[in-house]
Amino acid sequence: MVNSRLDTLLEKLFPRQCLLCRQPSHNPQPLCHDCRTSLPLNHCACEQCALPLPTGAAPGALCESCLEGQRDFDRVIAPLVYGPGIRQLVGAWKYRRQTLLSPLLASLWLEHLTQLPACDLLLPVPLHWRRQLWRGFNQAALLGRALQRSHPALAGIPLLEGGLQRRQHTRHQAGLGAGAREANLAGSFRLRAEVSGLRVAVIDDVVTTGATAQEVAAVLKDGGAASVQIWSLARTPAHPATLAGPASGLSAEYAAPQ
Ligand SMILES: [Zn+2]
Ligand SMILES: [Zn+2]
Repeated sequence: MVNSRLDTLLEKLFPRQCLLCRQPSHNPQPLCHDCRTSLPLNHCACEQCALPLPTGAAPGALCESCLEGQRDFDRVIAPLVYGPGIRQLVGAWKYRRQTLLSPLLASLWLEHLTQLPACDLLLPVPLHWRRQLWRGFNQAALLGRALQRSHPALAGIPLLEGGLQRRQHTRHQAGLGAGAREANLAGSFRLRAEVSGLRVAVIDDVVTTGATAQEVAAVLKDGGAASVQIWSLARTPAHPATLAGPASGLSAEYAAPQ
């Protein structure tokens, strides 16, 4: 009772603000209802890599790359398009170190799923140790743990933060095209967990070209994984400039994540 009165008083004195529109928000999380419902959903996407497809594409359609190439991951699940709103949230979470946003981001991932996919092991995409030391955390591991806290079915599934190791301190992926990203990442992951026969869910914050997903999945399949899914918040469209976000004063680093 005392706590709820204190909460009400604090709410009046310091009303919560939506992180995106700066209007007062009555949600426990820092995102108002209007901004939450206006995040760009990735509802018309490649069945395998979740690349946003033109509106009207048939359910189950594949993008050109998935039709042509051999992908080692079975599926990417990315409920949002990396566009207005989500770009700012991910940017604040990762680059401004607002790690308290992890539960909000986990809830965004979970609320757009029709069914939680089965898996035996959660593996966050690793950062090179130097980048993690500089940032202070691995955002993929934060997201994975927030997912576990938000969904009871995930709570009992092992999450191995050291299950994959990033061997090379690669150049920032930001600004590189798909081919350059693949070359930049070649041989950069090493498996340090037993995955034989397991259905592995790899956690990543944003899938940009799919080069990281492919490289990690290849390592896991070499290690005997039965299946590899990539669980990601958002997928970058093929032509991200067409999804320029609202004026936000964000720096260029938010345009192409790593
Ligand atoms: Zn808002
Ligand atoms: Zn595809």
